[in-house]
Amino acid sequence: AIILLTGVNGYIGAHIAQSLLTHGHTVRGVVRSQSKGDPLKELFKEYGDKFQLAVVPDVTALDAYDDAVKGVTGVVHASAPLPQQSITDVDDALRPAVDGTINLLNSVERYGTEVKRFILTSSAVTLLEPKEGEYTYTEADWFDTALKIVKAQGAKAHPGLIYTASKILQERAAFDFVEKKKDRLGFDLVALLPVYVLGPPVDAFVDTASLKSGSLGLMYNAFNDPDGKDWPDLISRVDVLVDVRDVAELHCRALVTEKVAGERFLLAGDSFHWQDAWDALNVEPKLPGAPIVTPGIGEQAKRLVQYSNKKSKETFSFEYRNNEEIIRDSWAEYLKRGWIE
Ligand code: NDP
Repeated sequence: AIILLTGVNGYIGAHIAQSLLTHGHTVRGVVRSQSKGDPLKELFKEYGDKFQLAVVPDVTALDAYDDAVKGVTGVVHASAPLPQQSITDVDDALRPAVDGTINLLNSVERYGTEVKRFILTSSAVTLLEPKEGEYTYTEADWFDTALKIVKAQGAKAHPGLIYTASKILQERAAFDFVEKKKDRLGFDLVALLPVYVLGPPVDAFVDTASLKSGSLGLMYNAFNDPDGKDWPDLISRVDVLVDVRDVAELHCRALVTEKVAGERFLLAGDSFHWQDAWDALNVEPKLPGAPIVTPGIGEQAKRLVQYSNKKSKETFSFEYRNNEEIIRDSWAEYLKRGWIE
């Protein structure tokens, strides 16, 4: 089976590629330029032709993916712009996410005639509609308020909300596309919605720019400033994590699991406070350099928001890694690479 994988040079995409290869699939990874793919070619060289590259410079071009989809049997669409700090035009954030997805679906319909399933990497941000008090989010939730705010405020809206809007519009556009054509399409659609993804990156190239942004940047900042002097809001926040290796494995399972057509799945581990991370590093055997900060305050932090992982656990017969393992493995990897200064 040849699986087309967009976003292959990203933090999550590289892990998905690794998992797909381990499962015996051939991977055709989409990159915007050859130079972004070369380090991956090197990383996966033991797989020979089972790891291929397709260069798609501009995903907003209508025929962008026409060649890339030929001969593939499944698609994992994991590329999307993450929140961007300085946006002058909201369309710059929305078009690659929404139009890029529709262009890919159109190409699959026309030229990817052997494709059976299309997996969309959406996000748990799509369901974070604000709620009063304690609340457990499920796949039934949608953050429609984000769309309203972004429509009203345009480029002045918070970058996180613009990103949220892009993910909601991307997922809805994909489901609409498949719903309208369901009688004549040879493939179905499954959306996976990870919460905050952390965990060690694959053993590749990570350029300095990406080390300071996204999930890698969050760990970089936290590990280098455990007291949160430069980011007090984030350090005190209670979040929910999922391990990048679990997210990758679940993409592989979702590709082959029957009776999940048209479903969305929330991928979530446990509730998390950064103090839990420091406490985890101090569990014996302690990891070198483990910060202490204020042991125990994570336990006391009020956890109003939960995410239900019941559906993904049951459907894919899956047990998520716990926060201790996510943080300890990440810390060890960052130490090894000299990223903790
Ligand atoms: P990365 O920034 O590491 O990777 C993003 C990937 O998307 C890269 O391959 C990047 O390519 C590509 N990409 C970004 N913008 C464009 C564009 N305009 N045109 C074409 N390709 C583009 O992010 P992650 O690995 O963290 O995210 C991967 C997916 O997972 C995304 O869909 C994201 O929304 C989703 N997600 C991430 C979470 C997280 O915590 N990290 C949580 C939930 C969902 P290039 O290098 O060329 O820019």
